[in-house]
Amino acid sequence: MRILAVGAHLDDIEISCGGLLADAAMNGHEVKMIVLSDSAYTIYDGRVGRTREEALREGRQAADILGAELEVLDFPTKDVPFGSQSIEALDARIAAFKPHIVLTHWPYDTHPSHRNTALATLAACRYHNNVLMYEPMMPSGRSYHGFRGQLYYAVSPEGVKKKIEALKAHRSQYKKYGEKVWVDAVIARGTHRGFEIGAENAECFEVVRWQLRLRW
Ligand SMILES: [Zn+2]
Repeated sequence: MRILAVGAHLDDIEISCGGLLADAAMNGHEVKMIVLSDSAYTIYDGRVGRTREEALREGRQAADILGAELEVLDFPTKDVPFGSQSIEALDARIAAFKPHIVLTHWPYDTHPSHRNTALATLAACRYHNNVLMYEPMMPSGRSYHGFRGQLYYAVSPEGVKKKIEALKAHRSQYKKYGEKVWVDAVIARGTHRGFEIGAENAECFEVVRWQLRLRW
């Protein structure tokens, strides 16, 4: 099976569905991550939050840990557009990779690039029958809408380990959000989602469209 995860930034996918992707790769499935920006940014006062080199290095390391192929596109980090450019960039890659499942952001996320990545992916997946939106994460995930977890995946202990390792590969972000707290929060959410379905750890998704099949 081929699984495609689309994110605005290097680290979004790892946080939200890194466990599923790691487990999929360990089970012989083909996993690809498309990230729409190089994820370099400055803070409003001009301080550098993350350089391009830093983001790409950390992102590649994280993808290797998960066992995923990574492609990084050149849309601006803070302003990933929702329009023909981003939709067609995804159209071409979806046509080439032919994923069985596509995962993307949740469009009610408060980060404009996350929202637009979600909308562009949904548009590019207009003929695709298995599309899921992954759960948003603090700080940009706080929203006036409620995420409705509909589909759960129980992550294996090895998958959890790889997800944490992948998160820690993003050292510049790990530092920004307060070292331990960021990773602890992701683990805690996995534990909470796992508890909801009687598993040790889980990730959950909102369903855009899901074709039930007896075999893939
Ligand atoms: Zn992001």
